[in-house]
Amino acid sequence: MPRSFVAEARKRVGPKKLRIRPIVERLAVEHEDATIALTFRSELELLVSVMLSAQTTDVNVNRVTSTLFEKYRRPEDYLAVEQEELERDIFATGFYRQKARSLRGTMRMLLDEFDGVVPRTLPELTRLPGVARKTANVVAAELGTPQGVVVDTHVRRLSQRLGFTRQEDPVKIERDLVRLVPRADWGRFPHLLIWHGRRVCDARRPRCEDCVINDLCPSSRV
Ligand code: SF4
Repeated sequence: MPRSFVAEARKRVGPKKLRIRPIVERLAVEHEDATIALTFRSELELLVSVMLSAQTTDVNVNRVTSTLFEKYRRPEDYLAVEQEELERDIFATGFYRQKARSLRGTMRMLLDEFDGVVPRTLPELTRLPGVARKTANVVAAELGTPQGVVVDTHVRRLSQRLGFTRQEDPVKIERDLVRLVPRADWGRFPHLLIWHGRRVCDARRPRCEDCVINDLCPSSRV
């Protein structure tokens, strides 16, 4: 889009600080079922599911964990088998060698340093082998203690289209979002954007005519 149209559109919808609340409120009504799509019954299962979800779909992870979690119930169970056996059990999630190594390293550290309990702070979570900032953010948010905003491909695309950030790098995008989004909404905000991205604001064909926030979006084609 030429610069003048972008500036014009930004002026039309107003400053982002005034748009953020109505956008969150409308999306919350539109996608009231927006939650994490991974299936888990405990904090440990949550951590494992999020670690396995790198580079694959949540549906695929759920398929694998439906049997995995019957066999591996405690951190000790991941260390009681050979690395190769764990690799076979998570093979279908892809990058299975790396993921098995990370899982075993994480379980070792959970037992050695955290009494077998999943920690809640980002500095602690990111110390676990194979747990990067995005994984830590997802886990912390699901445990009810969000300490940042999860930025995945949908959150990045929608934040850019909505004029919330001009950045490309997820860490810089998150920095913009934590300044803008009210802290109380840090947990649900990414889910709202992810579900809106899946259902309405498609990467290639955004359905702006059906979008409940099209009057607040500088990228609207309506
Ligand atoms: S108006 Fe269009 S570009 Fe903006 S959020 Fe809605 S679907 Fe996406």
